[in-house]
Amino acid sequence: MEPTERPRRADLARHAAADLAGRGVCGVAVTWVDTSGITRVKAVPLARLEHAAAWGIGASPVFDAFLLDDSIVSGRFAGGPVGDLRLHPDLGRLTVLAAQPGWAWVPADRYDQDGAVHPQDARSLARREVGRLAAAGLEVRSAVEVEWCVSVGAMEDAFTPACQGPAYGMTRLVELSDYLREVLDALAAQGVPVEQVHPEYAAGQYELSVAAEDPVGAADTFVLVRETVRAVSARRGLRATFAAKVLVDGVGNGAHVHLSLWRDGTNAMAGGSGRYGLGEEGESFAAGILLRLPALLALGAPRVASYLRLVPSHWAGAFACWGRENREAAMRFVTGAAGNREQAANVEVKCFDAAANPYLLMAGLLAAGRAGLETKARLPEPVEVDPAGLEPAERAARGIAALPATLAEAVEAFEADPVLAAALGEELIDTVAAVRRGEIALFAGADPAEVVERSRWP
Ligand code: GLU
Ligand code: MG
Repeated sequence: MEPTERPRRADLARHAAADLAGRGVCGVAVTWVDTSGITRVKAVPLARLEHAAAWGIGASPVFDAFLLDDSIVSGRFAGGPVGDLRLHPDLGRLTVLAAQPGWAWVPADRYDQDGAVHPQDARSLARREVGRLAAAGLEVRSAVEVEWCVSVGAMEDAFTPACQGPAYGMTRLVELSDYLREVLDALAAQGVPVEQVHPEYAAGQYELSVAAEDPVGAADTFVLVRETVRAVSARRGLRATFAAKVLVDGVGNGAHVHLSLWRDGTNAMAGGSGRYGLGEEGESFAAGILLRLPALLALGAPRVASYLRLVPSHWAGAFACWGRENREAAMRFVTGAAGNREQAANVEVKCFDAAANPYLLMAGLLAAGRAGLETKARLPEPVEVDPAGLEPAERAARGIAALPATLAEAVEAFEADPVLAAALGEELIDTVAAVRRGEIALFAGADPAEVVERSRWP
């Protein structure tokens, strides 16, 4: 951090605090997401925001090594009790929280005491990857879909759906209409452009999608939407879960990531001479991601429970293939309606879930896409059927592989991946692997019901 940066940030914070005071804000929640995917927080009273902006808020680096149950693993580069990081709020994203009166929220970047970026800070890493593409004249636009299930009883651990209506049924919108209105109201007040909300397939399940923005912004929005849904649920005596699997049987919660690649204001995934209008760069970017999906799962499907969701014929995208509007392909190509393709075309990566640290996942996706661009990677033939319906021999002949079926397999692919190793760096690679192995050990011997139970709320 340049020496002039601290007074600049203090100045910004002073102005922001004056505005927030006028809007009744007393406290500011400063969040980051840990390796296991949990949003952690330190809060300051409004009067302290200026100090926090300039000097950061102290936080132990031990959080890099936390697991979903708050136990701590010891990695080579994380897990010790010594050290101090500084949480620097990114004031550009400071938001007054509508469902938590008197509170504002801001995401943080983690630095050391000397003002250097913490090498294991996921948000800074995602920003660095955005910068690398920008240096090549490229911009990515992204959005993460949020699925969640609502249960009765704000403090109940058992899951009892808070609505009874059928999947996609209007009844469900009627049953929880005040609740859903409050979610929409809160997000609108917070400046989040919601595009759609609907009841999903699983019991008590809803989905909300938002407009695409830059990848770091999309990851921030994902954090904000989740916490907003959680807050509105709590105010209504309900409890929201974003877990990959909420009940042992049936469909789970995904967190599908949409990505499009732009050069000079033109979408490289539309209007090109490739399949379905893909441009050359758009195709290479997508192909780079498709190729690395097994490794990326260690970032995007980070829990043992993630692999209970990621099974064939559950719309989770359990096969490494792509296809136009194919909801069983891990990569669904979305062209949009004729006439709007230049704006709408994007790839939707479906195999991920909401336990992912969205910043880490974005960084991994951008690095994989960049590698695809550098090698001018080409997509294989698209798949226009449910791959689970093909005979194994035909799948093999068409080069359609099943994605890892366990977290252990994904971690193995992750550790063997040179592109992710270069992008994330030795320390973060080691810590991610240590945290994933810690979780595998935590659930050793547990049957699916127990895995689901213990992963439902964190
Ligand atoms: N809930 C499904 C999943 O686990 C996705 C349903 C959909 O296609 O929106 O990813
Ligand atoms: Mg959905």
